[in-house]
Amino acid sequence: MLEGGCSCGAVRYRLTSEPLFVHCCHCLNCQRQTGSAFVVNVLIEADRVEITMGEPQSVGVPRDNGSTQEILRCPTCEVALYSHYTYPAVAFVRAGTLDEPASVSPDVHIFTRSKLPWVALPEAVPSFEVYYDTGALWPAESLDRVRALPG
Ligand SMILES: [Zn+2]
Ligand SMILES: [Zn+2]
Repeated sequence: MLEGGCSCGAVRYRLTSEPLFVHCCHCLNCQRQTGSAFVVNVLIEADRVEITMGEPQSVGVPRDNGSTQEILRCPTCEVALYSHYTYPAVAFVRAGTLDEPASVSPDVHIFTRSKLPWVALPEAVPSFEVYYDTGALWPAESLDRVRALPG
């Protein structure tokens, strides 16, 4: 069971199952939002992110394509814990907030067209200039889980 939380300890969460898939995203939105080179997102059904302490606060963050991304932050220290894109039934949990970030590793690297040139990717992990076909890459069990989600 993966657990994590913010920097001040006011918000804690637990993931109640294995992730669906793990993204390492090198897009410019993720670089700007994190102030870093990329983000590592653990994809999991939103109802499998169990908040065990505190209450994350929703912040609407503009993206370059004109859409808004909902980022859930600790109301006190404002560390970003997870986010929702267009499909709110899936949460993107920021792997750096896990108590043991090394317990997950990327299943795919995406938006490598804006990857910083000094980041070297492992050859064994699939990578894509932009996005990819989840049906071709995700394990059957994860695809079944997503099909079971509402709307
Ligand atoms: Zn906090
Ligand atoms: Zn991104």
